[in-house]
Amino acid sequence: MRWTQTFIPTLKETPADAEITSHKLLLRAGLLRKLTGGLYTFLPLGLRALRKVEQIVREEMDRAGALEVLMPALQPPEIWQQSGRYQTARDVLFRLQDRARREWLLGPTHEEVVTTLVAGEINSYRQLPRNFYQIQTKFRDEIRPRFGLMRAREFIMKDAYSFDVTDEAAQISYRKMYDAYARIFQRCGLKTMAVEADTGVMGGKFSHEFMVPAEAGENEVVYCDGCSYAANIEKATSAAPKPEIRNQKSKTEKFATPGVLTIEALAKPPYNVPADRQIKTLVYLVESKLVLVLLRGDHQLNEAKLAGVLGTAQFRAATADEIFAGLGAHPGSLGAVASALERRTPFRPEDQKRAEPEFGVPKIYADEALRGATDMTTGANEDAFHWRNVSMERDIVVQQWADVRLAQADEPCVHCGRPLKIRRAIEVGHVFKLGTKYSQALGALVLDESGKQQPAVMGCYGIGVTRTLQAIIEQCNDQDGIIWPLSVAPYTVCITPLSVSPESEVMKLAEKIYGELTARGVEVILDDRNERPGVKFKDSELIGFPVRVAIGEKSLAKGEIELKPRAGTLMPVKPDEVADRIMDFLRA
Ligand code: ATP
Ligand code: MG
Repeated sequence: MRWTQTFIPTLKETPADAEITSHKLLLRAGLLRKLTGGLYTFLPLGLRALRKVEQIVREEMDRAGALEVLMPALQPPEIWQQSGRYQTARDVLFRLQDRARREWLLGPTHEEVVTTLVAGEINSYRQLPRNFYQIQTKFRDEIRPRFGLMRAREFIMKDAYSFDVTDEAAQISYRKMYDAYARIFQRCGLKTMAVEADTGVMGGKFSHEFMVPAEAGENEVVYCDGCSYAANIEKATSAAPKPEIRNQKSKTEKFATPGVLTIEALAKPPYNVPADRQIKTLVYLVESKLVLVLLRGDHQLNEAKLAGVLGTAQFRAATADEIFAGLGAHPGSLGAVASALERRTPFRPEDQKRAEPEFGVPKIYADEALRGATDMTTGANEDAFHWRNVSMERDIVVQQWADVRLAQADEPCVHCGRPLKIRRAIEVGHVFKLGTKYSQALGALVLDESGKQQPAVMGCYGIGVTRTLQAIIEQCNDQDGIIWPLSVAPYTVCITPLSVSPESEVMKLAEKIYGELTARGVEVILDDRNERPGVKFKDSELIGFPVRVAIGEKSLAKGEIELKPRAGTLMPVKPDEVADRIMDFLRA
């Protein structure tokens, strides 16, 4: 390709609304342009790189035995009603109407469509296992589209769905995808870590996310250098060091704490109660019932874990008014000491009318780190009062103990005891064992070997193809621009003649090398622009072609031209050796 024949609108200045490096570089290198927030046009170079990522994904999915299909992006709402996600995924669904005012959805994902396909086509274990995949545009009404392709309204995903008769077979399908993902990201030149991920209400061990470590990432990963443990912070566990065991003082004691509304305030004089000696009482509304969640004062709640424990993601923090109506005190003075709660029940009927929630003694969940804790301090459920000398086991009626706290850096790893680390990361892929939720709801039933009808056991596997492309740039760059891995570079070699008049020796040689490399199957761009050398060099570095061949009069007079790998040092080479040298470099 000749530079003047394609379209590469590089920018000197960074567009104001690009916040992270990769987003800036996508725009500055002329790969991408914004239509409006969350919607982008791929320009010729960007599209070339994108197609390469897609091709790597396709080859590895094919190699793993998955079958490529293409499903409609436009979907009928009925199948979403059948699966229940018309309600639960309501927020991300783009909905539209046809001329007859019938509703349609733009697919954010395709479990419903693929399961409907399988329900109609497959009915026996003999036809399984099957894994169908596609590379297709998805639509999501994200709360906050941002960072270019990272979180867009419209993006390209590779989504695959496996169907098996048994749980064990489903685990084999899962493993195949896990291994394929590792190869895909490696071939893309990306360093990723596979981390345990939240399985939501389903539980179990079969959910992994592939993460690209990066400050710009929206996820946090907890990992251990001592062993191979790594998990999304939503899922991560850690060992909580216990505060020193103190002798339980005989009786709980109420004391006045005027103006004290926070853990920090109670930790200060004159009270001096360390945060790890306090019980934090959080109040949530779950299906219009109040529940209390107790944590140690120095710990934070992990809402994803709480969702798993509650068995639903449909809950929210109660408002101060709801809390006061239910518990008789405001946030800052709440507590779960049994006697303080019992005082409130049965609840006065007139209060029932005031607020929606149902009252009564709320269900109490307590975090495992509080087990056996004594000599604790907590709110008295009476504004401006706290209790001290509280014993978890003696004074609080816990209905369910559970791990609901957020892991923190430097806490010991539960597997090897070394201090855990936390870093930010970009999720580029996700493998997930779904079980039978969709096959049951949408009737994908198969006869097993004994002739019994079973819902197929499913897995789903997503790669954000456009996000992966941007993650590559986020990981592979320097102050001058992108450093494309060979496998996904829009062109491999950029030939930069410093004079472009057709009669010049320089340009003639450039044409010759261009012809030679092209004939050998190398993807070459010839910078035939009549521009100053500085402009050409800057652009080729900004775009990040893996190899640059510069041809100038001065060095040519010495019988040399300059070969420079984007991330390496400049090497003078003889003109008739350059093609071989480049082939060596590409093979290495
Ligand atoms: P996230 O937590 O980032 O919103 P998700 O859990 O919603 O991701 P999945 O539904 O598992 O993502 O989708 C599969 C893959 O699609 C993700 O791993 C991610 O790489 C990509 N992806 C998801 N949402 C977007 C988006 N809005 N823009 C670009 N890529 C996305
Ligand atoms: Mg999402």
